[in-house]
Amino acid sequence: MTTLDQPAENSTRAPGPLHDAQTQLREATTILGYDDGLHQMLATPRREVTVSIPLHRDDGSVEVLIGHRVQHNFSRGPAKGGLRYSPAVDLDEVRALAMWMTWKCALLDVPYGGAKGGVRIDPRHYSRAELERVTRRYTSEISPLIGPERDIPAPDIGTDETTMAWLMDTYSVQQGHTVLGVATGKPISLGGSRGRATATSRGVVHVGLAALRSRGITPDGATAVVQGFGKVGRYAARFLAEAGVRVVAISDQYGAIADTAGLDVVALEAHVDATGSVVGFKAAAAVDPATVLEADVDLLVPAAVEGVLHAGNAGRVRARVIVEGANGPTTPEADVMLQQADRLVVPDILANAGGVIVSYFEWVQANQAYWWSEAEVEARLADRILDAWHSVTDHARRLDVPLRTAATCLAVERVAQAHQMRGLYP
Ligand code: GLU
Repeated sequence: MTTLDQPAENSTRAPGPLHDAQTQLREATTILGYDDGLHQMLATPRREVTVSIPLHRDDGSVEVLIGHRVQHNFSRGPAKGGLRYSPAVDLDEVRALAMWMTWKCALLDVPYGGAKGGVRIDPRHYSRAELERVTRRYTSEISPLIGPERDIPAPDIGTDETTMAWLMDTYSVQQGHTVLGVATGKPISLGGSRGRATATSRGVVHVGLAALRSRGITPDGATAVVQGFGKVGRYAARFLAEAGVRVVAISDQYGAIADTAGLDVVALEAHVDATGSVVGFKAAAAVDPATVLEADVDLLVPAAVEGVLHAGNAGRVRARVIVEGANGPTTPEADVMLQQADRLVVPDILANAGGVIVSYFEWVQANQAYWWSEAEVEARLADRILDAWHSVTDHARRLDVPLRTAATCLAVERVAQAHQMRGLYP
């Protein structure tokens, strides 16, 4: 087993998300005064599995894909975290994402540990039938590890509610009965929760508006840019616009568009549904995607992938407030630079926690076989994420540290307390 403090053998990025996650944990355990033994327990994944996924392609050939599931920690409850399909997936990325899930669940006081899964695949180049076979084989390979009381996957980049339906079905067939609680982010007709599909974005916007106000900026009429137009960026842009924020630029993996008068987000959604990208949206100008991250606006929402704000561009970021819709978009080096420039960074483990909060509600509903109204889900989500916002901002003020440091310290302390109360076996 590789501890998260050792350089991992298969590291392909320099330094990459695992380095970022390790650096953040080291800072927290130093502030908390933990000894090296406790630090290592928090730094080291409890379980990791790497599986091969032989896939019958539609053309009759066979291709072998690689998948991972990392359970970083389950001292507070079952491990929880998404399943990612992306060509950038590797074990170190999954380790980092699993660790961030542990802190996210602890910070929001959701009774889970952290996990993450990934398959190294570009889903755009595979048919629906091929993706179903990949999902079913991957699920079958990791099935000894997962279950409603063990580890509960959910959607992430490149996966969606259909992926979760296949995963739930495969697991259920193997168990001999339907197990709705084995995954969250499922279709509503199959044990999903109302409000789950938009939950991450709702949370981003609740926290984003609170962050703007904390800087004396009135959301109505404020300006924003959004990087990414997937499950998170799309609805974040929509809800920001509904709150009166002028969304002046949006990028995706193909390009970017801008309109200083404010984009018509609903019309853009229709364009993306028809074409698959923001590129070519007639009612806006095409711009260089890099300009989105560097735009002179009140709010920047990076809602794509890790490491997009780094030492090479953080000095050019002009947004007053940065709310992390993605996991790990800011490197520790960029964090220091943004802090020095007095930018307010709302960290991922707080800002994008709406998804796992409503995943928790979905699991609770599935276990009770009793479903809540959308209004109830939305109200409980708002309460929980805004409570966490207040705890983190209070803690940051008390310790005189940035929000990420405060959030990580609060979360790490909860996990460490669980370890200490449970004791060490044997
Ligand atoms: N993939 C999402 C995240 O990174 C959701 C995880 C979950 O709901 O379990 O937070």
